[in-house]
Amino acid sequence: MAAPFTAELTAREMIADGIAELSFAMRDPPRLDFQAGQFVSMAVDPPSPGSDPVPRRSYSIASQTDAGDLLRFIVRVIPDGKASEYLMSIPFGSLVRMTGPHGFFVLDSSHPGDVVFGATGTGIAAVMPMLGEIGRRRESGSEARRCLVSWGMRQAADLFALEEIGQLVARAGAELQIFLTAPDPAWTGGRGRITPALLERLSDLVAPTFYLVGNGSMITELKRELISRGVNRKTQIRTEAFFD
Ligand SMILES: Cc1cc2nc3c(=O)[nH]c(=O)nc-3n(C[C@H](O)[C@H](O)[C@H](O)COP(=O)(O)OP(=O)(O)OC[C@H]3O[C@@H](n4cnc5c(N)ncnc54)[C@H](O)[C@@H]3O)c2cc1C
Repeated sequence: MAAPFTAELTAREMIADGIAELSFAMRDPPRLDFQAGQFVSMAVDPPSPGSDPVPRRSYSIASQTDAGDLLRFIVRVIPDGKASEYLMSIPFGSLVRMTGPHGFFVLDSSHPGDVVFGATGTGIAAVMPMLGEIGRRRESGSEARRCLVSWGMRQAADLFALEEIGQLVARAGAELQIFLTAPDPAWTGGRGRITPALLERLSDLVAPTFYLVGNGSMITELKRELISRGVNRKTQIRTEAFFD
């Protein structure tokens, strides 16, 4: 159940061009129970005393559900963004007020067929604990179908956490495809947006459940195209838009 809590900033590192990873140790209470895919809402202090209050911001929990004492977030640092500036400027040891866990973008308890993740940008943060959960289910024999992860980014310099994601993908028995919309000539992975690439795979998938997260326009377009090809909006598509 969502509740207020405080957590202390313990680490902050740039992990790719314009992408930061932040770690918060839970303080009160000492751990957070959450489901893979859920997010927290953070209170952002105004830039100076007396300036306008800043609306709260949401961040998906990128860490695993069995490590609820230390929450990790992967954040796109938006130039002049209020939350971005706040999170990048507060000193280590700062206590941040949050609420959570929030959200219904979580794994179904079981899947009738293949599981497909379509993520753009930092949307992969929500997928990381979901892959961990699929890996644990697979090891206990309860998740046997195919799992496909399509991750879209602009260029190779934007990619992050590749080693960790690779390990999660391997444990989940998943297939990872990375698509870049503005790759260097040397890039040997997928090119273009994830939407056409996923639609191309559709006929090959068995009773798929889609988890789409990140850029809202990708989600709207992909959802529309999937539905027009017979995918059931209610039973087969789950979404989490980070922005429009
Ligand atoms: C459920 C949910 C979960 C979210 N999880 C994450 C997360 O794990 N990591 C994360 O970086 N953001 C996440 N966001 C977005 C986050 O809440 C903020 O919107 C973002 O950090 C920008 O806040 P800001 O105040 O710095 O900039 P603002 O001035 O509020 O934003 C400026 C503009 O930046 C764009 N933008 C916002 N977020 C992103 C993004 N992630 N990538 C590219 N462009 C963006 C939008 O067009 C927005 O209008 C999530 C949003 C929601 C609703």
